[in-house]
Amino acid sequence: MINFEYTRVSSVKAAVDALAKNPAGSLIAGGTNLVDLMKKGVTAPVRLIDINNLPLKDIKESATGLSIGALVLNSDLSGHEIVKKNYPLLAMALNAGASAQLRNMATVGGNIMQRTRCSYFYDTAMPCNKRQPGSGCGALQGYNRMHAIFGASGKCIAVHPSDMCVALAALNATVTVSGPKGERRIAFGDFHRMPGENPERDNTLMKGELITGISIPKNNFTKNVYYLKIRDRASYAFALVSVAAALELNGSTIKNVKLAMGGVAHKPWRLTEAEKFLMNKGATKENFTKAAELVMKGAKGYGYNNFKLKMAPVAIVEALTKAAGIA
Ligand code: SF4
Repeated sequence: MINFEYTRVSSVKAAVDALAKNPAGSLIAGGTNLVDLMKKGVTAPVRLIDINNLPLKDIKESATGLSIGALVLNSDLSGHEIVKKNYPLLAMALNAGASAQLRNMATVGGNIMQRTRCSYFYDTAMPCNKRQPGSGCGALQGYNRMHAIFGASGKCIAVHPSDMCVALAALNATVTVSGPKGERRIAFGDFHRMPGENPERDNTLMKGELITGISIPKNNFTKNVYYLKIRDRASYAFALVSVAAALELNGSTIKNVKLAMGGVAHKPWRLTEAEKFLMNKGATKENFTKAAELVMKGAKGYGYNNFKLKMAPVAIVEALTKAAGIA
């Protein structure tokens, strides 16, 4: 067993101070990913800083949108009346994630911070640039069925595992963080990183910063939304491919559209080119198919995951079709 110290803090300032004093420490909230990582020896923080007592558990709606405290539980968020009514895409994505038991423990901040489920990352006997920079990538020539088809690098082809984050990316959320230099806000699309030369870095958080909340701007995506998740079993499985689709329709014309994918890249993958194409066009299968073709232009398979090249465009069309409510 690897020993570690434990501290419980009750304010954001105390958490920031504790992180500053313990650069080799880790924050813990629900612990649904971190404890697994510790058990498997992937990470060994010398001190756990328990943030469960921080006052970051509110869900509030205002004229400008929704704000969500970082310690709101995934199950509380998905079951919240305002979220179900005004942000149904987020509720659908949350309910597609993990299992009911995990959603009862996992926090919003932890969901965003969770690490890839690449099996080589969790197997300390295998090379992995994300776990041990410079050691190589076991998945590149290995069993890469779950891996990326967009934006991968020669150093890492892992995917981000969250469902919730795919909806947050589509809905243009913002992440609020606090650190030694104060508070700052990060656009959701800029929070997670592509692997590039430094796959050990999952996100753009700076040293000593923690997530305090998420905000989603007010939108009209209350009716024509769909989160499609394709996975190996109906529950407790990560996405092979997922699509978050949000449409605002004027009759059968697309007035506004937001699209993002999961299970395909190192970060939630926003489909901006497809969105541009679909704006002010008819909500038809033909247009959805053309949009999906645009998305797939930059896709690349790595062997075992080549099936995603066929699955992804079908999933995009299916999610948009379901969101539009057409047959
Ligand atoms: Fe590690 Fe990334 Fe390669 Fe997986 S894909 S083995 S996480 S470097």
